[in-house]
Amino acid sequence: MSTKVVIDLEAEKKEILKRYGALLRSLGEKIDKQEKLLIRKAFNLALDAHKDMRRKSGEPYIYHPIAVAQIVSSEIGLRATGVICALLHDTVEDTDVTLNDIRTMFGETEAKIIDGLTKIENVFDQSSSIQAENFRKVLLTLSDDVRVILIKLADRLHNMRTLESMARDKQLKIASETLFLYAPLAHRLGLYNIKTEMEDLGLKYTQPDVYEEITTKLKNTDEVRRRFISRFIYPIRSSLMHTGIKFDIKGRPKSIYSIFNKIKGKGIPFEEIFDIFAIRIIIDSPPETEKADCWRVYSLITDIYQPNPDRLRDWISTPRANGYESLHTTVMSPTGKWVEVQIRSRRMDEIAEKGYAAHWKYKEKNDYESSIDDWLGRIREMMENSDYNALEFINDFKLNLFSEEIFVFTPKGELKTLPAGSSALDFAFDIHSEVGMACIGAKVNNKLVPLSHKLKSGDQIEILSSVKQKPKEDWLNFVVTAKARSKIKSALKEEKRAVADAGKEILEKKLKALKINLDTTVVNNLIRHFKVNSALDLYFGIGEEVIKLENLAKIARGEKSESWYKMLRNKFTRSSGNDASPATLENIVKEIRGKSDMLVIGEDMEKIDYKLAPCCTPIPGDEVFGFVTINEGIKIHKTNCPNAISLMSNYAYRIVKARWMNQHQLAFMAGIRVNGIDDVGIVNNITRIISNELNVNMRSISFDSLDGVFEGNIMVFVHDTHHLTDLMSKIKQVKGVTSVLRVDSN
Ligand code: MN
Repeated sequence: MSTKVVIDLEAEKKEILKRYGALLRSLGEKIDKQEKLLIRKAFNLALDAHKDMRRKSGEPYIYHPIAVAQIVSSEIGLRATGVICALLHDTVEDTDVTLNDIRTMFGETEAKIIDGLTKIENVFDQSSSIQAENFRKVLLTLSDDVRVILIKLADRLHNMRTLESMARDKQLKIASETLFLYAPLAHRLGLYNIKTEMEDLGLKYTQPDVYEEITTKLKNTDEVRRRFISRFIYPIRSSLMHTGIKFDIKGRPKSIYSIFNKIKGKGIPFEEIFDIFAIRIIIDSPPETEKADCWRVYSLITDIYQPNPDRLRDWISTPRANGYESLHTTVMSPTGKWVEVQIRSRRMDEIAEKGYAAHWKYKEKNDYESSIDDWLGRIREMMENSDYNALEFINDFKLNLFSEEIFVFTPKGELKTLPAGSSALDFAFDIHSEVGMACIGAKVNNKLVPLSHKLKSGDQIEILSSVKQKPKEDWLNFVVTAKARSKIKSALKEEKRAVADAGKEILEKKLKALKINLDTTVVNNLIRHFKVNSALDLYFGIGEEVIKLENLAKIARGEKSESWYKMLRNKFTRSSGNDASPATLENIVKEIRGKSDMLVIGEDMEKIDYKLAPCCTPIPGDEVFGFVTINEGIKIHKTNCPNAISLMSNYAYRIVKARWMNQHQLAFMAGIRVNGIDDVGIVNNITRIISNELNVNMRSISFDSLDGVFEGNIMVFVHDTHHLTDLMSKIKQVKGVTSVLRVDSN
């Protein structure tokens, strides 16, 4: 800071304790001793975790969680659990405190709520813009416990109250988000006061001039309004006095925001709406008689003023799903203006302003606990249930929870709906088939994941692509959307056809040199010999160089030419079955060795039945040996394979020397492990090297980071060890990378 600010730490400490004291007082008798201790524990933990942090205003950070807890307690009506979580709501996100700490110190419920709050923070506060509908959907999927949403609203309300010290662009972003998302949400949860305050503050920061103008005009017309109200309610008041019912009459103008909406939306000048307001009559009536009493008051009022029969709303017999109960009528005032009159009991009024939690304000603790569950359950139900016609917003939610769909986002916050179980690759295809075809990996919530990564609701996905990527057969194993499946299949077919065309050309040329015509007989002979299903498969095999055209003349003419290894194997299988004796195996090995002293891998591919051992995934350039297995032909291992010593010492008689043919067309899979310091962009830099700088295909990639350190596991296709070493040394040069290791398998 350039200007010196003198901070009186002692005074601050006093102020913190004062605010904490006020918080406890707002809970009053609603918590027991045990809970009080837990709240103290949460306060101490938050105080310590945030001790070196300050808000933009320069105030100690802890003021914020205390204020959020205060809102949660006195304006929403949550008790111990809500207050504890509100106190801790920013700890996991911003400090060293972990979810585990919270689980151990408080419990599973608290950990879950904090987890939900942290996730919401992560999903939303990073992306530029989110549409309201998406926001609500995700809010719901992320929060099993509705308290998550309530605390989030309290958090936002306090941030709005303290928006003054933020930079202008932040003010605009936060205020418009609040108007767009949080205020409607508060409304739908029945938190009327919070909704109104959010809207007014939202307007204050998005359109300061308009806000200022309306506020000033309201102040200037205050006197007129007050006179009107008192004249209007005078006869009502005296009539009610005779009933013996205790009551309060409130008359207040519409909120600044709703006046603004009228001016803007309907083009009505302020002068014509400033005196639109509702008169609220709140009666002190026990639950047994409150309904009858409300109707009695209604009857009294309509004796005085003429009601508009079209504007009677009975929310007492059928409360609105957000819990709102009230009796509304609109009557004609002596000055010729319609005035809305709301009649309700004290209990109904508290619910209207604070939501359902107010309902249990005076109840005993046990009652409260079950009631709060009830309420939270009702909110959920209300949000989920599509049969509530009374609720216009239900459409926003009904798709969601128990359905088979997930909601995910593009980096720009655009919503995509996918079937549950969808992978990152499905998402890529959902964006565009070209994106799907070129997809090499993805970042989910900023973390690198393989194509097969299963998505969850709320995930935000960025697709990584490479022009070198081509659809792969194994993609079909993990895509679930019809679009991805059919696109991959047709791409594979197309590619296969192209390769097959090339293969056919090769075959024709070779046959021409042998003066053999490519006719049906020749094709059938080749199909039979190479054990493929169709001419297409044959040409494809040739194109892919899986089928080697040696002894072509013989094969094409249909002459027998079985590979020596297959002959050996047949003999071996016939003589020994699965219980091959060392002697039998040794004989086979001898025969192989007698044939040639060294197995050349890549050359005798169709002749020799060999596989690359999965335990050490050798690639050309590695020093290797062959191991004769009982049922799977020869397995090629690296000489430094972890199993090599045991194989060589116990089964030396089954070892065959082997070397690689110089082979650059084939790609082999290898694993690389990268460790380093988690740094912005590091993952990007690594993948860029892999996908762009070198001609390497990535098969899978996964990155994990913990406490600022990351570990990445990458499986790539390379031609040989040179290729791999080159790649590894390039990765090692990326800033932040501390080590690059070859690993044997994934
Ligand atoms: Mn916060």
